[in-house]
Amino acid sequence: MPTPETEPERAPGPGGGRFAVVDPATGEAFDEAPDMRPDDLDAVIGRAHRAWSGWRADPAARSIALRAAADAVEEAGDDLTRLLTREQGKPLSESSTEVARTSARLRHFADLTPRTRTIDDGRPVHSEIRWRSLGPVAAIVPWNFPLQLAAAKFAPALAAGNTVVVKPSPYTPLATRMLGSLLAAVLPEDVLTVVTGREPLGARLASHPGIRHVTFTGSVSTGREVARAASASLARVTLELGGNDAALLLDDADVEKIADRLFWAAFRNCGQVCMAVKRLYVPARLHADVVEALAQRAKTVAVGPGLDPATQLGPLNNAAQLARVERLTRQALADGARAAAGGHRQDGPGYFFAPTVLADVPPDSPVVTGEQFGPVLPVLPYRSLDAAVDAANGTGFGLGGSVWGTDLDRAEAVAERLECGTAWVNHHAELSLAQPFAGVKDSGVGVAGGPWGLYGNLQPFVVHRPREA
Ligand code: NAD
Repeated sequence: MPTPETEPERAPGPGGGRFAVVDPATGEAFDEAPDMRPDDLDAVIGRAHRAWSGWRADPAARSIALRAAADAVEEAGDDLTRLLTREQGKPLSESSTEVARTSARLRHFADLTPRTRTIDDGRPVHSEIRWRSLGPVAAIVPWNFPLQLAAAKFAPALAAGNTVVVKPSPYTPLATRMLGSLLAAVLPEDVLTVVTGREPLGARLASHPGIRHVTFTGSVSTGREVARAASASLARVTLELGGNDAALLLDDADVEKIADRLFWAAFRNCGQVCMAVKRLYVPARLHADVVEALAQRAKTVAVGPGLDPATQLGPLNNAAQLARVERLTRQALADGARAAAGGHRQDGPGYFFAPTVLADVPPDSPVVTGEQFGPVLPVLPYRSLDAAVDAANGTGFGLGGSVWGTDLDRAEAVAERLECGTAWVNHHAELSLAQPFAGVKDSGVGVAGGPWGLYGNLQPFVVHRPREA
């Protein structure tokens, strides 16, 4: 087994290059990572292919190894947490939760095995459905939850008997590299490899003929490129893409009771959550109260460097994301929106944007119709519930949605009308490891999570034989 020192991808990029990693709380580079050349993937994927034959052969050994991997993540929890906060920006408490979810995923999938089934359809034939692994899987991951999303891909893929090549975002390569080193010490050699580098590394990985499944999380536009790239080898594709989740308040909502939960559903991880509440539809009668309750929280939440234990909201992850959020907010303000809180970037170093609550936003403003992915929440009044449901469903996205009210049956009946993969009543973005996770419309292709995630990494193999000799 490789030690972290001998692991190939830990050498200075095979091409010799390295790239800087920036601390979003200061805007300054604090470390660097290897910038792998796309051509060097041939060797990595070749090794992943050779490691596959041993790994796929023994499900019991896989379970044991994945449990050991979960233990290793837990033991290194503090180091992973700090490094994740340093490169991603989120508060330590959120990084710690992310690390815990990373080990929980490994444990969850360590215990899942595919079920062999027989077909009993009256024919004089014994037919059995078995499951086979696919081969090397490419896991391409964004910067908002680098560890948790990587684990959401490699845990089911490994449990199914595949080997995996993980490529984190160049904005957040370091915690994933640390995770890769930890897991290399407990998994057989080359079963899991972390590669880091700038584009076109991801594009090359997605199109590589040795990859049999590309599982990608990221933006809709890159998702389309990944699908195109993978079509060259006809590899299976799973895409978990952007969202623009709506939350709908009903007229019986208890504003003070739900305000905290609603606020954090929009602002956690500085709004950089695919399933954050990104638009809030509120009965006109409650609009002023809701804007006030959320604005008051936005003005008083502790914004600062994630490494400060008092911080509740960190910076945005990178300069491009800050510029995007600023542009969308400025446009909304120019179009007539009012900032009840925030509305501008914060003075000083780092990628900080003041938590922003927008009222009087034109419904066709890009901050409403697109995915702003930042600490900005437009609050839109409605007079007709049907019109509000139509507006909630009126974008190309369909990841999640929520309905908030006191009458739970009525709220659930409205949630049933949302065009999305997961809906909540009086909550948002809380997922179970055991649930299927899928977006509709532009928000995704394929199903991850629970047994669906496992079978998404498997190929059915059917054997028929006569019942009698
Ligand atoms: P992104 O699409 O820019 O990048 C995602 C990953 O793809 C990164 O590793 C990036 O380096 C890589 N990449 C870039 N170009 C590529 C190419 N041509 N081929 C292959 N890989 C390429 O996304 P991001 O900005 O890192 O992350 C934010 C986006 O991710 C948001 O849209 C967010 O909604 C989405 N997201 C979705 C989910 C979900 O589960 N649906 C979860 C988290 C984030």
